[in-house]
Amino acid sequence: MTGFRLRAALLLAAVPLAAATAAAVLKAGHWRLYADRHRLELTPRPRRSCPDCRGAGGWWVGGANPEMEACGCWSDRRELRVRLWPVPAWPDNEPPF
Ligand SMILES: [Zn+2]
Repeated sequence: MTGFRLRAALLLAAVPLAAATAAAVLKAGHWRLYADRHRLELTPRPRRSCPDCRGAGGWWVGGANPEMEACGCWSDRRELRVRLWPVPAWPDNEPPF
């Protein structure tokens, strides 16, 4: 096994193991990585250099009932979600509320 393949195999083995033990959130640049035993999520964050929202992610519109309008610097980018471990079903003996 070459060095690259060994490192890649160790990385692939370490990611689910680390995700199974605890949840982790990493914010780097304009991306947010969330990992736990059930999923890996890579979601976009607002850009600080955005001329429209200046990193706030959006702005308020409307008068009496204002609503938040999302800025395109993060809302138009795709997010990546990978399911790792199935989420357990709701227990049958407890009511949902
Ligand atoms: Zn923006």
